[in-house]
Amino acid sequence: MIINITHATEIFTDFLKKGSYRITPERFEVLEYAFKQTQHFSADELFLSMKNDGSNISRATVYNTLELLVACGLLSKHNFMGKEARYEKSLGVSEHDHLICLNCGKIIEFDNNEILKLQEKICEEYGFIPVNHSFNIYGYCKNPDKCKTNRENGNENNTR
Ligand SMILES: [Zn+2]
Ligand SMILES: [Zn+2]
Repeated sequence: MIINITHATEIFTDFLKKGSYRITPERFEVLEYAFKQTQHFSADELFLSMKNDGSNISRATVYNTLELLVACGLLSKHNFMGKEARYEKSLGVSEHDHLICLNCGKIIEFDNNEILKLQEKICEEYGFIPVNHSFNIYGYCKNPDKCKTNRENGNENNTR
């Protein structure tokens, strides 16, 4: 499903009304910024980019609103190995999984039909209805700096 900001705004307004949350312009400002991001972002990164653009939003509002956006299904939230949570749009993007570099933090997205098929098969086996899934591979990317050294040593004692 392709979703644009107008549609997202409708979904969010609806959600806020139903949950008796206050409908404030700040919340929609966060939504707009979140939808502009093309990468996985943390709450702090979003907050800083809004600040840089002259917004006077509070950090707490950014954090709360992101949680609401996750709750209504517009964003998804990842906790990659104890790192700061990262968000991304969950509607209008294809289902994908992640490779996460332990050294530089790079996140590579991939999309594999076999995984989807396997997921369906497993759920069927257990009579389970899938809502969401997460599949993350941690390791070292091919970045020529430290990531590559770690790869060659084949080690896990990342000293960072
Ligand atoms: Zn890397
Ligand atoms: Zn992603």
